[in-house]
Amino acid sequence: MLNVWVVMPTCLPTVLRRCPACASNRFRANGKFRVNAHHKLLDAWLLVLCTACGDTAKLTVLERVNVRSVRPDLLDLMHNNDPGLAAELLQDPVVQRRNRIALDWDNAWRLDTGGSDHLDREVIDVSVRFAARIPVRPVRLISQGFGVSRAEVERLITEGTLVSAVRLSGRLSCDFTFTLKR
Ligand SMILES: [Zn+2]
Repeated sequence: MLNVWVVMPTCLPTVLRRCPACASNRFRANGKFRVNAHHKLLDAWLLVLCTACGDTAKLTVLERVNVRSVRPDLLDLMHNNDPGLAAELLQDPVVQRRNRIALDWDNAWRLDTGGSDHLDREVIDVSVRFAARIPVRPVRLISQGFGVSRAEVERLITEGTLVSAVRLSGRLSCDFTFTLKR
């Protein structure tokens, strides 16, 4: 039987970007947008606040785009300061590159294992699914899921008790499966 674990975001990630007003490099989005229309051209930004000095920075979402080419529902979401849209945009590689930002997901996600019934079976197949592209270390995830130390997880990998088609060292942000045979 396949067990599903889900990596769930619990809040918006920290935005890593240098603050021009202070030495900090951490910003937090509060889900607020600013939209500016000039003639038929539209600019839109997602606002982020420096966690140290509170200074506001604007992340470009749309830049001098013809109003007619923008989906009306997208405009509505921005006018309503939709937090879901903010989360989606922060994870968008195009938005990240354009604004030269990276994300820090520490303390912004949780692992949902769907209960502990399956954890003491002899053979356990787990499918890990990511509800957002959150880069996490599988070793950390598995140690958290089973409530054992990371050293123990590393030992299980080394002795071949814990196997996966993907490399379990390093970080992953896409779905994978693993099997534990005790
Ligand atoms: Zn600052």
